[in-house]
Amino acid sequence: MGLLTNKIEREELKPGDHIYTYRAIFAYSHHGIFVGGSKVVHFRPEHNPMDSSTSSISSSSSEDICSIFPDCGFRQPDSGVVLSCLDCFLKNGSLYCFEYGVSPSVFLTKVRGGTCTTAQSDTTDSVIHRAMYLLQNGFGNYDIFKNNCEDFALYCKTGLLIMDKLGVGRSGQASSIVGAPLAALLSSPFKLLIPSPIGVATVTAGMYCMSRYATDIGVRSDVIKVSVEDLALNLDVKTIEQGEEEEEDEEEDSDTDYVR
Ligand SMILES: [Zn+2]
Repeated sequence: MGLLTNKIEREELKPGDHIYTYRAIFAYSHHGIFVGGSKVVHFRPEHNPMDSSTSSISSSSSEDICSIFPDCGFRQPDSGVVLSCLDCFLKNGSLYCFEYGVSPSVFLTKVRGGTCTTAQSDTTDSVIHRAMYLLQNGFGNYDIFKNNCEDFALYCKTGLLIMDKLGVGRSGQASSIVGAPLAALLSSPFKLLIPSPIGVATVTAGMYCMSRYATDIGVRSDVIKVSVEDLALNLDVKTIEQGEEEEEDEEEDSDTDYVR
């Protein structure tokens, strides 16, 4: 794999690899775990988001019918975790391999977010176990900034989850989507230095690299290792937390009293 691109050939693929491809002419990348047998487990929205700004990106309306593998496109009801064949995953895009265990200096040479991490990958068996387990049990709600296909693949590879409810973009994917350092900056202490949108535009690429480094899953201190079985349980808890705590619940109670 080259220093500036992680493009690989299919013959180089190994089960448990975290792969990705660019869609919509490099506007964003889609990630998955190669589980062997020409199959990829990946995470995508359950249905088209109402938000028009993201629906064109993450649209799953073109539900392809696969003529090669009858089980291609398999997923549990209401789950965004899908099993696809490599061809359907790539959709004629090029194949890239996400790098793990890169040194901080290599990490900083990567121009785009979401191509590598300093975190170490777990064993192939663990990675595939997590991917197949989540295929059966789901990975919660797809959120382009907080829970997306890259987060899914990162979790399968490392078992690491970032416990940061307020974080904008746990992974590099958010910054890739925006196509600019904005998302990474918003989720970093640098936002304190940016008084206005004009300031964002003048922030240097160097600062972007540093802030991206600070948000890398291998560097952050607010990551925890979660077994995939525990994750399935925690997803229920997380859903409750996303409703934003008891305070609001109490307010809702009193509101409904007034209405009635
Ligand atoms: Zn297919």
